[in-house]
Amino acid sequence: MKYIFGNWKMNLSRSEAVALATSLREAASGGRVSAQALLAVFPPNCWLDAVSEALRDSPVEYGGQHCHSSIKGMFTGETSPAMIAELGAKWCLVGHSERRRTFGESVLECAARCAGAVNAGLQPVICVGESGTEQNEGHTVKIVLEQLKPCLAALSPTAKPLIAYEPVWSIGTGKLPTNGQIAEVTAMLRAETGEQIPVLYGGSVTPDNARELSQIPGVSGFLVGGSSLDADKFLKIAAEATEK
Ligand code: PEP
Repeated sequence: MKYIFGNWKMNLSRSEAVALATSLREAASGGRVSAQALLAVFPPNCWLDAVSEALRDSPVEYGGQHCHSSIKGMFTGETSPAMIAELGAKWCLVGHSERRRTFGESVLECAARCAGAVNAGLQPVICVGESGTEQNEGHTVKIVLEQLKPCLAALSPTAKPLIAYEPVWSIGTGKLPTNGQIAEVTAMLRAETGEQIPVLYGGSVTPDNARELSQIPGVSGFLVGGSSLDADKFLKIAAEATEK
C-alpha cells in the first residue's frame, strides 16, 4: 500500500477545489486508481465541507492542513480538530514546515496539535524536515528527531500517525535529496519508531520521479504539494508509485 497524499496549501477557489475532488472521485470510481494506492487530499480548511461532499462515498480520503490542540474555545481564527473530524475527515497534517518556519510553531505546539488531532479521532501526519543549512551542516538526523519525538511522546498508544519526511529545501524547488539520503533518513525514522509508523517522502514529487522515489526502501508513499493541484499529475504519481 502506498499513501499518496496531496497538500493543496492555500490554493484553489471553492469551485476549483470541488472540481479537483470530483475528478479524483471519478478516477477512483472508474477503476483508474490502483487498489494499492490510498489517496487523500488536504484542501484549505474552509473548503473541507465542500470537498467532503464531493468525495462522499468515494475511497478518496481527506484531511485538514492544520488544527488547534483544543476541541473548542476562545481561539479566534483556529480550527478545532473535532470540527475537521465532524466533516468525515480522517487525517490532519501537523507541523508542516510552513507552519513551523513561517508561523513559528514550536515543537511543543506541534506536539499539542498532534495530541489534539488524535483526541478528536484524526490520524496525524507528522511533518518533519531539515533546512538546507541544517542539511549542509550535517544536522538532518538531529533536527528531524527533535521535531518528531515530542509529537510521538504526546500520543496515546492507540494513535495511528504517519510521518512525512520533507526536507524544507526540497519543497517547491525541484531539488531532490539523493535516493541514498532519503533511504538513510527513512531507515532512521523507522528504526526510531520500531518500524510501526509508515514514512512518506515529500518535496518536489512529480509524475517523472515518483516511480524511482517509491522504490526507495522504507518509503510508504508521498506528501505532494504542487503536483497535487492537477488531477492528472496526482493520479499519475499514484500510478507510478504503485507500478510493479
Ligand atoms: C509540501 O509542501 O508538502 C510539498 C511536498 O510541496 P511540493 O510537492 O510542491 O514540493
